[in-house]
Amino acid sequence: MSGKLFVIGFGPGSFDHITKRAREAIEESEIIIGYTTYVDLIRGLLTDQEIVSTGMTEEVTRAREAVRQAEAGKKVAVISSGDAGVYGMAGLVYEVLVEQGWTAAEGVEVEIVPGISAINSCGALLGAPIMHDACTISLSDHLTPWELIARRIDAAGMADFVIALYNPRSGRRTRQIVEAQRILLQYRSPDTPVGIVKSAYREREHIVITTLADMLNHDIGMLTTVIIGNSSTFVYDGKMITPRGYQRKYTLNSDEQALKPHQRLRPENEPWSLEAAALQGAAALGDSPSLAAAPQERPASKPVNSVSAPVDSAHRAPAGTGTQAAAATPYDWAAQALQAVNEAKGITAEGTAAAATAVASGTQLHRPAAVFVPEMIFECAVSPGVANKKFTPLQMMTLAQAAGEKGELEYTPHHQIILRVPTSNPEEVTAPLREAGLILTPVGDVLQVKACDFCDGEKKDAIPYAEELQQKLGGLEMPKETRIGINGCGMACYRAVQEDIGLVFRKGKFDLFLGAKTVGRTAHSGVPVAEGIEPDKIVPLIERIVARYKSEAFPNERFHKFFQRIGELEGYAWQEVPIPKIENAVCGD
Ligand code: SAH
Repeated sequence: MSGKLFVIGFGPGSFDHITKRAREAIEESEIIIGYTTYVDLIRGLLTDQEIVSTGMTEEVTRAREAVRQAEAGKKVAVISSGDAGVYGMAGLVYEVLVEQGWTAAEGVEVEIVPGISAINSCGALLGAPIMHDACTISLSDHLTPWELIARRIDAAGMADFVIALYNPRSGRRTRQIVEAQRILLQYRSPDTPVGIVKSAYREREHIVITTLADMLNHDIGMLTTVIIGNSSTFVYDGKMITPRGYQRKYTLNSDEQALKPHQRLRPENEPWSLEAAALQGAAALGDSPSLAAAPQERPASKPVNSVSAPVDSAHRAPAGTGTQAAAATPYDWAAQALQAVNEAKGITAEGTAAAATAVASGTQLHRPAAVFVPEMIFECAVSPGVANKKFTPLQMMTLAQAAGEKGELEYTPHHQIILRVPTSNPEEVTAPLREAGLILTPVGDVLQVKACDFCDGEKKDAIPYAEELQQKLGGLEMPKETRIGINGCGMACYRAVQEDIGLVFRKGKFDLFLGAKTVGRTAHSGVPVAEGIEPDKIVPLIERIVARYKSEAFPNERFHKFFQRIGELEGYAWQEVPIPKIENAVCGD
């Protein structure tokens, strides 16, 4: 009978988080080899397996014993917590095998069974801190020169990785974590969120969310993983979250906002804002001590600070902070960073003092504290009107001002200019544009009403219907980008017949075209489904068509495909359009 060598990662420690394959492999094994604590963690899964744990502190000895037993024909499981391939036994087992000249073809069978590593289990308990590029660094310098570890911490800090520190501290190794913090403070704000998880999914599980400046004031030991956020990680309602992208993008593409525009900027609706913190601080504290007096009076456990630097600013701490380590306390650094951010925002030292003291006093322990107000790319389409195609010079100037130095303006084939600008406050961007009489609509999979200029307003009879459609349907979220073209006469020179829904106003009534194929080499006009629709019927009819498309189409299904698939819309039948024979293009279809 041939033996087999399993190297099994059994996850963080609870049976709920062991994989099925790991359970099977443990069951299948005759011998379990592992550190006593690990064997104890999986004891409930064992039946009559022989256990080799005690008296074997040396990992190499354990790996060699495992190989020996497997070669003698036994099924052996070497167990590691988390994943066996992450600072576990997998590498060592292979090293022992390689040393003996083992090959997969002729040697004993080896199966590495993956498990949930601490970076994943601790990450899940903290919220979603990993999300973006991340790395693991073990602070154990028993087998790795400290100089190399320090270089890796430095590189990871510089490159803005989220960092999971394994083996952060033991009874003897206490300085490494202090050094790691010092190095990282050269690159990251003292307010950077840090999660400390001890015994994830085990009996004595303990979770703390703190900051880079404050992390050493918490218990960190051998059973702890420390996760350091990147420059855009923030804390919200007790969860540590790293955004998926560095610049979160948001558009106006929801027709129903939970808060009305004037409500959105109120401090109570922005509990993460500095204003809210200052207000709460002032209310809670009355004439409390100023910031200068706060450090020595602050309680040992401090909540997470409320503000950090914006994403695009350099996250190096002020020059020299690293070398000032002896003089400045972490709290001083945090206060300095807060002050620096506030100065940039034009907030006075008193305001900062109130906010910082509020933080220090612990009054906001249960308040959602966002550490970071992300700067997002705000995006919207701008046009001078539904029929009007002319921008005034003043509107152009307002638009240029809205874009500022960092924004961009893109001219599209659809009578719109797309404005993209980084901001944490879209209202500030949109208000002046609206005041200048510009129409703002969302971009993306939304409905655009695209009218002609009605011969510069001469043929104005259809304009009210275009405007009503814009008002009722413009910007509505759709399964796919959708355009309604409205042209004021039979010339249809703005090509309404080429849009998803085309309306041509002729002899006081509307002709309706549905389902143009608007893109691709097989593009075609819409099906002319009706002529002479009474003007008072047109808006409700289009609303019904749009409503059906919106509710019945598959996500991303273009309007013409949808019309073709369902075959009928408001009594109008789809008609097959002859598809010309075209040779396939080199790429695409
Ligand atoms: N193979 C393991 C890591 C072993 S190194 C894995 O993939 O998770 C040991 C270190 O792992 C500990 O010092 C600690 O930093 C981390 N660790 C392992 N299990 C943990 C748990 N349940 N909770 C928190 N940290 C854990």
